[in-house]
Amino acid sequence: MAQHHSLSTRAIHADHEFLGPSAAVAPDISLTTTFRQVQGLDESSSHPSNPVADIYARETRPVVTRVEKVLESVIGGPTALFPSGIAAAFTILLHVRPDTVAISQGYHGVHQAIRIYRKTRGESNVALIALDDEYPQGNTLAWLETPLNPTGECRSIEHYARRAHEAGGQLCVDSTFGPPPIQDPFKWGADIIMHSASKYFGGHSDALLGTVSVRTPEEWYSLWDLRTYTGSCVGSLETWLLLRSVKTLVLRVPAQCETATKLAAWLASISRVKGSPSAEEGTTGFIEDVWHASLQDGADRFVGAGKQMSIGSACFSFSMTSEKYAEHIGHNLSLFTPAASLGAVESLIEQRILADPKADPRMVRVSIGLESFEDLKADLVAGFAKVKAMKV
Ligand SMILES: *Cc1c(COP(=O)(O)O)cnc(C)c1O
Repeated sequence: MAQHHSLSTRAIHADHEFLGPSAAVAPDISLTTTFRQVQGLDESSSHPSNPVADIYARETRPVVTRVEKVLESVIGGPTALFPSGIAAAFTILLHVRPDTVAISQGYHGVHQAIRIYRKTRGESNVALIALDDEYPQGNTLAWLETPLNPTGECRSIEHYARRAHEAGGQLCVDSTFGPPPIQDPFKWGADIIMHSASKYFGGHSDALLGTVSVRTPEEWYSLWDLRTYTGSCVGSLETWLLLRSVKTLVLRVPAQCETATKLAAWLASISRVKGSPSAEEGTTGFIEDVWHASLQDGADRFVGAGKQMSIGSACFSFSMTSEKYAEHIGHNLSLFTPAASLGAVESLIEQRILADPKADPRMVRVSIGLESFEDLKADLVAGFAKVKAMKV
């Protein structure tokens, strides 16, 4: 489908040219593992990115082919689907086979995937360095997560792409917190883009998925080969849920980000560190500090029209003035659910220490859904009063 169409149009129609003359408008879930054989089929004329006929579901299945066409158009490069974000991350490591991995902070599970990759190569054969260390010449993979979990703050894709390329290496961006349409890492020099599609792409807390996008069909074929022969294949139901959800991605994400930006600004205004003295009665004394791309130092370098992100992410963090508040706030709200994960239509809240034992126990992460700003703000104000009244 022509890339001149808008992102929202492509999210709905990009798979249509690959469909037969009487294809179902609403795609089938299609549970089949195997397909009736076509006699005399010339397999050499068929490519797994666009199979003439499907044979066995680990190799290709129509619902996966369809969603990959849509994702390719929406993300901007050939895309392979995986059964989780971590499966996607691990396959990137197998695909690049880096001798050096440069990474700092970010999602803990990715660090565990790197640990296992190093084990498969022999630990001493794969150097692990910080993102801002000097990169040795050679096959270095710089792994940049931006915006960053859990604060939602940005780091420059352009900067790390230049550094990786100068050393002859590659830059992978974990863009989970900045899905389309708010961030396009390819535009700033990324070689590989990863998403945990369990978050915004799936968008409804009901499908565990991951994506890897690359620049060329040859690289896609390498990802397909690794997926097929490590058996890292996606179920039909999850894929079908993704195909349904990606159609509304372009509506959901900016709305969630807009509400999150307003909430971050409001929380900053009542915080001890960034606050204003004129904050409303009953709202002060709860929030210590707030982090969000729109509040970070040099925010205008990152967020706004034509910048790396059109708007700050829908997931961000704040710290409360006491551990007690941070521990109990999530269980004293009615619209936020205390739970791990992010990116879905419903707002979630989590005391960070439950996910990261090294986190400040006063720190709280929120993922903003599609409820209204006024409702979420009122829910938090009511929650503040409840945790203040608690005797623990
Ligand atoms: C959730 C997440 C992952 C891992 O994805 P799963 O789908 O849970 O395997 C990786 N990176 C980031 C930034 C995430 O938020």
